[in-house]
Amino acid sequence: MQIKENYLLKKLNTFGIQAIAKYFVELNSLNEIQEIVQSKIFKENPFLLLGGGSNILFTKDFDGIVLKINNKGKEIIAVDADHVFLKVQAGEVWDAFVDYCIMNNWSGIENLALIPGIVGTSPVQNIGAYGVEVKDCIESVEVLSIEDGKMTELSNEECKFAYRNSIFKQEAKNKYIITAVTFKFSKKPILITHYGDILKELENMFVSPSLENISNAIKNIRRRKLPDPSFTGNAGSFFKNPLVSKEKYNELLHEYPKIRAFPSGEDYKLAAGWLIEKSGWKGKSLGNAAVHHKQALVLINKGDATGKEIIALAKAVQIAVKGLFGVELEMEVNVV
Ligand SMILES: Cc1cc2nc3c(=O)[nH]c(=O)nc-3n(C[C@H](O)[C@H](O)[C@H](O)COP(=O)(O)OP(=O)(O)OC[C@H]3O[C@@H](n4cnc5c(N)ncnc54)[C@H](O)[C@@H]3O)c2cc1C
Repeated sequence: MQIKENYLLKKLNTFGIQAIAKYFVELNSLNEIQEIVQSKIFKENPFLLLGGGSNILFTKDFDGIVLKINNKGKEIIAVDADHVFLKVQAGEVWDAFVDYCIMNNWSGIENLALIPGIVGTSPVQNIGAYGVEVKDCIESVEVLSIEDGKMTELSNEECKFAYRNSIFKQEAKNKYIITAVTFKFSKKPILITHYGDILKELENMFVSPSLENISNAIKNIRRRKLPDPSFTGNAGSFFKNPLVSKEKYNELLHEYPKIRAFPSGEDYKLAAGWLIEKSGWKGKSLGNAAVHHKQALVLINKGDATGKEIIALAKAVQIAVKGLFGVELEMEVNVV
């Protein structure tokens, strides 16, 4: 374990923002994670946990220690007639793990293909896509408590999962390091094809639904729709889809009959991309930051954007949407 000083973070965040960490360390095992938490340098400095850096926006240098979580390993811990239970170390790459499950014919996360990041951060915002949220396959989350260094297993319920949210973004933020996640997968394929253009894409591919085909269809759609961070800096959806009451939704529907929304419990979830597009920001720039021309929910780094420029654009978008629709857009990305 080597602690580096004045470490450049540009290649470690998908926005490609230049920021410097005062200290940086890559942790390749649970032992190393436990060791660093007991160290003097950790106790004397602020810390930041980093996975794949695909949901982080740096707005300044980090005057503390960045811990890059990189512990690897996958283990079957139980099997019953219908399910397999798998404990996966936090540093495993998410998309490779999705492929591994498909290869083994374990069903549950195939619709979450091609989401960047690591397994250990999948519970943080309860990643979701194409009609699936990871919470539905999480049995428990192993964490190390920063306060006393003890290891605990949090049940699915204790994680308080919600739409792009969990205890790890709320009251447990900076209290725990997620070290592993235990998943429960179905041994019989449960195919979810109702969402978005999955069925249309399968038809275009001349294939019938299967775990692998659905995942490939979703990969095709995502590659067409979303900018690839290795060419265009971005962090996926920058904002959450806002939830509004039924009354507010009806009011908006009256004024904008084409508004895109989905029922969510008693409320309605509005498509934030649609709101941004209608407010005139799709494809527009502010300095070196821009709203993507194909997907208005994604803010991009046009080259040398600073985190502050991205935030300035985000604020302008929020003001425009609030002004037109009276709806607040909440950022999904973690701002540092
Ligand atoms: C092109 C693109 C498409 C995307 N599509 C989707 C999508 O469809 N659905 C979706 O939900 N998200 C999507 N995202 C967002 C992002 O990929 C996910 O949120 C992902 O889970 C972030 O993983 P990461 O490892 O990169 O996390 P990071 O960005 O490194 O960290 C995310 C947060 O978790 C904290 N953290 C890091 N490690 C730990 C740890 N061990 N314990 C506790 N906290 C920790 C960090 O401090 C930070 O606050 C997309 C991003 C991109 C760039």
